[in-house]
Amino acid sequence: MKSAPFDYQKPVSVADACKRLAGGAGAAVAIAGGQSLVPLLALRMAPAESLVDLGRIAALGEFATTAEGVRIGAGVTHAAIEDGKVPDPTAGLLQRVAGGIAYRSVRNHGTVGGSVVLADPAADWPACLLALRATARISSVGGERVVTMNDLLVGAYTTSLVVGEVITAFDVPALPPGSRWGYQKVVRKSGAFAMSIGCVVMRPGAGAVVVLGGTTSRAALMPETEKAVGADEAALRAAIARDLAGVQPDADDYIKRLHTATVLKAIREAQA
Ligand SMILES: Cc1cc2nc3c(=O)[nH]c(=O)nc-3n(C[C@H](O)[C@H](O)[C@H](O)COP(=O)(O)OP(=O)(O)OC[C@H]3O[C@@H](n4cnc5c(N)ncnc54)[C@H](O)[C@@H]3O)c2cc1C
Repeated sequence: MKSAPFDYQKPVSVADACKRLAGGAGAAVAIAGGQSLVPLLALRMAPAESLVDLGRIAALGEFATTAEGVRIGAGVTHAAIEDGKVPDPTAGLLQRVAGGIAYRSVRNHGTVGGSVVLADPAADWPACLLALRATARISSVGGERVVTMNDLLVGAYTTSLVVGEVITAFDVPALPPGSRWGYQKVVRKSGAFAMSIGCVVMRPGAGAVVVLGGTTSRAALMPETEKAVGADEAALRAAIARDLAGVQPDADDYIKRLHTATVLKAIREAQA
């Protein structure tokens, strides 16, 4: 199938992009790496009368070390992180996640911002950035706001962004010395989206953050499991089951076993 006709706009600044997106009243859609949007347009699953290309806005491709960690422009590609071009204050978690996304040609073009805004439940960045307690910087004609990943992710393919808003960057706090992490995912074949993702970050003296991805909804925190990290396996499995009942209540036995195994493996990796 071919996409429906659309016009193509090339803003050179974030302010210009926000203006064009707001002016389009929902019929104008941002495009970054195009790795997800272009197939959706071709399938006519993402109606757009106008594409506003963020790829020419230099500021979105920038990254910098900050007092708290690293600021990663929304237009930074997975490949740039995989290749170590972006400072990684997370002891390698960002680089590990980037290198495991799809295959190289997707990673060369796909961006962190595009991945998060698409909010595919099986995508890697939403789960990882949620576990790292990252925040997103969002611009619109009205100004800038900063939201936590937990407030940004609403559900499958749904974020709290409104028409005219552009994510400009993610602030990722550095992990303090002695922190540990585990990242595990189950894929049907190499390069495919995950069926299940477990991401665990343990900061000294601050407990664990446990996130499950690959559900039917958004990447989700697992508060019962977080409390049970360090307990014996039976207690841990029981805690995961309690979280799963809230996160994916319709999960069948196979999916429950799959998610349980992924989360357990991620915890074991963080503890190793
Ligand atoms: C074959 C294949 C396999 C893949 N496997 C994986 C995988 O294993 N794991 C994984 O995580 N991902 C995977 N992906 C998705 C990939 O990571 C994409 O890069 C990502 O989903 C979208 O990024 P993009 O820059 O291409 O965004 P686009 O496709 O250009 O845009 C996606 C959406 O985000 C919006 N958008 C983009 N940037 C912004 C912004 N800054 N502000 C506001 N809205 C914005 C667009 O309007 C659009 O709705 C795969 C993709 C393909 C094609």
